[in-house]
This record gives sequence, structure tokens and C-alpha cells, in this order.
Amino acid sequence: MKTVFEKIRDREIPATFLYEDDEIMAFPDIDRSTPVHVLIVPKKRIVSIAEMEDGDEVVVGKMFRVARDIARDLKISEKGYKLLFRVGEHGGQEVPHLHLHLFGGARLSENIHPVGQGE
Ligand code: AMP
Repeated sequence: MKTVFEKIRDREIPATFLYEDDEIMAFPDIDRSTPVHVLIVPKKRIVSIAEMEDGDEVVVGKMFRVARDIARDLKISEKGYKLLFRVGEHGGQEVPHLHLHLFGGARLSENIHPVGQGE
């Protein structure tokens, strides 16, 4: 079954593309957490950073470059921003298709805490 990001890639569900090339697409997160919240996504489905295969580092590296350029375009580069990959269950990853979150447009809290004591 396709992930939501494969459906966006294949134009089966809508998104406003801020960037697109043969390998990468970027669009606003549908449930914005910060004034700027953009997802940078490889078109090829890589499940997560944990599931990267040899050679995937090229597209992953390019995702950072796209994030840098979008941050510049949206004029948040000077004040700064956060980039985040969630990985798996403990990382809070919901969509099993690699994506880099770009958060910005406001001063952001640290907000990385364990939930409870156990698994
Ligand atoms: P994660 O929790 O890191 O897996 O993040 C998945 C993100 O995808 C969440 O922030 C969702 O709000 C976002 N998302 C889910 N569906 C869509 C969609 N159709 N368009 C844009 N963002 C989406």
C-alpha cells in the first residue's frame, strides 16, 4: 500500500509543492506545529534513517540542501530553525516514508523528553 507521501508524489492527494525535482519534493505539513513547518521528502520510499541503504546518503544529503534553500526562501535562515527526522516508534514517526521536518518562524522550545519510564 502507498504511503501518504507516495500518494502526494503521484498526485493522488493534493499538496502545495514548495520544491520538486526528480528525487525530492517539499510541501507544508498539513498539521503545522510552528509558523513554518515544511516536509522534505525523497520520492523514492526509504522507510526511515534506520532503513537507509548504501547510496541513499546522496538523496539524504540533498534533502538538507533543499531544506537550507527553502529556509532561505521563507526568510527564516537568519533567525534559525530546526530540522528533525523522527525514526520509528520511540522517535514518534507516524508515516513510514522518510521525511525531514523543517520547523521555524518562531523561537522553539527544547521539547525532547521521555514519555513515562518504560518502553
Ligand atoms: P512523523 O510523525 O514524523 O511521521 O510526521 C508525519 C507528518 O506528516 C505529520 O506532521 C503530519 O501532519 C504530516 N502529514 C500527514 N499527512 C499529510 C498530508 N496529506 N500533507 C502534508 N502533511 C501530512
